[in-house]
Amino acid sequence: MNKAYVLVTILFFGSLCSYGQSIQDLIDEVSLPELTQKINEFSGEIPTTVNGNSVTIINRQQANNDLAADYLVEQFQAMDNLTITDQAFNSNGRNIIATQVGKTNPNNIYIICAHYDTVADYCADDNATGTIAVLEVARILSQQCMDNTIVYALWDEEEIGLLGSNFYANQAVANGDNILGVLNMDMMGYDSDSPGQPGDNQFDIDYRNIAGSVAMKDDIISVLNSYTFDLSVVEVNPGTTASDHSSFWFAGNFPNDAISAVLVGESWETNDETPFYHTSGDRASTLDFQYYHEMVKLITAYTATKGGLLDVDNTVSQNMTMLTSNEDLASSYQWYDCDTDMAITGATSQSFVPSSNGNYAVEITMGSCTERSECLLFEALNVASFEDGEVIVYPNPVKNHLQIESGNISDLEMKLYDMSGKLVRSIQSASGTLTTIDVKRLPQGVYFLSVLNSEKGGTFKIIKE
Ligand SMILES: [Zn+2]
Repeated sequence: MNKAYVLVTILFFGSLCSYGQSIQDLIDEVSLPELTQKINEFSGEIPTTVNGNSVTIINRQQANNDLAADYLVEQFQAMDNLTITDQAFNSNGRNIIATQVGKTNPNNIYIICAHYDTVADYCADDNATGTIAVLEVARILSQQCMDNTIVYALWDEEEIGLLGSNFYANQAVANGDNILGVLNMDMMGYDSDSPGQPGDNQFDIDYRNIAGSVAMKDDIISVLNSYTFDLSVVEVNPGTTASDHSSFWFAGNFPNDAISAVLVGESWETNDETPFYHTSGDRASTLDFQYYHEMVKLITAYTATKGGLLDVDNTVSQNMTMLTSNEDLASSYQWYDCDTDMAITGATSQSFVPSSNGNYAVEITMGSCTERSECLLFEALNVASFEDGEVIVYPNPVKNHLQIESGNISDLEMKLYDMSGKLVRSIQSASGTLTTIDVKRLPQGVYFLSVLNSEKGGTFKIIKE
């Protein structure tokens, strides 16, 4: 497919309708390649970069896992809207915590967590799976405004007695933190019923009748039933105390200070846990990534639901001429040059006409919510431009009929867009020569006419009187 054809395709199919990003949109963003890459990096199967050095993170055992902790800090630093806490405890403990403050109820806190320390080398299932799930949920949700506060927490020293989560939970009780739920993930990538193939895809939710933990379990099942996941739930009550969620059940003085918490993971209840538990045989190659992908989608959907996803669309549409924010209702727009990370002076409309190829993003504000889009590569201008006089558009300003004289250039696609990026006229000219576009009924204002064939293109700014 040549570049001009790709651009024409974008011109035809670039979506210009507006809708708020939905929970289903976020589920669709959970990326199997991203999960696979990060599991392999974090469990020492492939090298990665930490502190600017190429390293291999084989060892994550407590007191010997600063490299792993530094990796996690850098992963969170690469995301927007997070406050990172490198929480030291005991002599070697480091909980790595990232907080996304809620826009409506900042004091309502949900915690999504996992331990990252290990008892042996590699330990992909226990617990790179839970750790990387937390990072993936954060990668997706940190770009969204939420009503409530989300704390993404990665605990150290779980394997020697839940020490990191215990330290945090008792401090949270002392601070009077309003923690509404703690979702802990520990070992969530193994499904024996044929790794790499669809298995029975059973997973456990471990809970007890402590604080609101039963309701939390019900909420997860409600999310499971509201969207499509290839998963089947096994309810475990009384759930195990052998992971970090139980630090929250028994925080402070039981039961007065108990905090709602559950464990989500592969199905120990049906004897379908990894046979490589707590050995260096627990490697990425033994995981069922299809199953793991479904698990992370479910956690993303649950977190977005309880976090209270605000109805703001931070996606961008692109056509030959311009970039357009898909959010119609923002109170302000500001376009950014991603290569310099600078706001572009005067680029504060819903649409933006770049004067050169590059990477661009838009920041939109609605009420207390400001979201930035992903950076979009705009290279439409790579199509050869018309020479001076090859295509002539007149009169300009225009009242009734816009004339396009194209001499011997044929097969032109002509599209007229308003300032918001909405397509208002579309004409195909087979023979070239002279084309007329009736603009009599269009409102006064600025328009952009895009003229394009398979070899050349150009954009003309038109004033309608
Ligand atoms: Zn574990």
